[in-house]
Amino acid sequence: MKNLRTIRILLAILFFVAAVAYLCIGPGMRHIVGVSERVQIIPSVIATCIGATAFWLLATFALGRVYCSTVCPIGTLQDIALRVRRHIPWMKPLRFRYKPALQIRYHIAAIYLICLILGLVGIPYLIEPWNIMRNIAASIRPSAVEMTWGTLWVGAATGIVAGIVSLLLILVSGFLFGRDFCNTVCPIGTGLGLLHQSNLMHIEINPDRCTGCLKCEEICRASCIKVTGRLVDNSRCVRCFDCIKVCDEEAIRLQSNRNRAATPLLRRKART
Ligand code: SF4
Ligand code: SF4
Ligand code: SF4
Repeated sequence: MKNLRTIRILLAILFFVAAVAYLCIGPGMRHIVGVSERVQIIPSVIATCIGATAFWLLATFALGRVYCSTVCPIGTLQDIALRVRRHIPWMKPLRFRYKPALQIRYHIAAIYLICLILGLVGIPYLIEPWNIMRNIAASIRPSAVEMTWGTLWVGAATGIVAGIVSLLLILVSGFLFGRDFCNTVCPIGTGLGLLHQSNLMHIEINPDRCTGCLKCEEICRASCIKVTGRLVDNSRCVRCFDCIKVCDEEAIRLQSNRNRAATPLLRRKART
């Protein structure tokens, strides 16, 4: 089970490097690493690539938001910022705490969807993760966004400015708050999270094994674990699997069944 984390980190590195190479290096590498765009959710939906779209639907139904922990470059950028933070010796260790879900994520997702339907692509260009990545890449290779922003008659400079501002915001957000951007702003994350009730596999805490040490809650970059209630909000879990790694009791796992407190004593404890 702990190997899941290693596999997901390796996949994230692979797809991130491929995405940067695809967007920044240019046509020479396009055929080799173009797969990094074809496996992104929104580009595959827009290109009506049924294979990739069906794959992500099935993968999300089966495992939850694995797209967010492996393939999405903006998720990986936030993770890089968080990792840098954790290795700065003079900084106070970052200990996350459970945060309630914010309803604004649904409003942002609704605005995004309405804009897409009406063809008002300015907002999708700014908040959809693959477009954010394209804008960021534009600061190195402006032609990466020329066509995109050209459709709005504003030119590549807008994409470059948007990319630099986005990069700073994403890095600062990841550095300070983990995956708050993913669970507040990103419409793709919100959409994938809506499927969590149907997921085959969930992150669950076994109350019979859990000692309440808080290690999993403190390391959860999505701030979606509430140890006092033995609760994991799977709609916001980005499947980083850090919680599984830090738990010495093997009390938190990716599993198919939902856990319930096993004894009246534990049920009372779980409600506190
Ligand atoms: S929530 Fe959005 S930005 Fe975050 S990893 Fe998922 S798709 Fe990427
Ligand atoms: S790390 Fe394990 S034992 Fe500690 S609070 Fe989390 S689930 Fe319980
Ligand atoms: S619950 Fe938190 S730490 Fe555990 S896999 Fe999900 S996001 Fe990662």
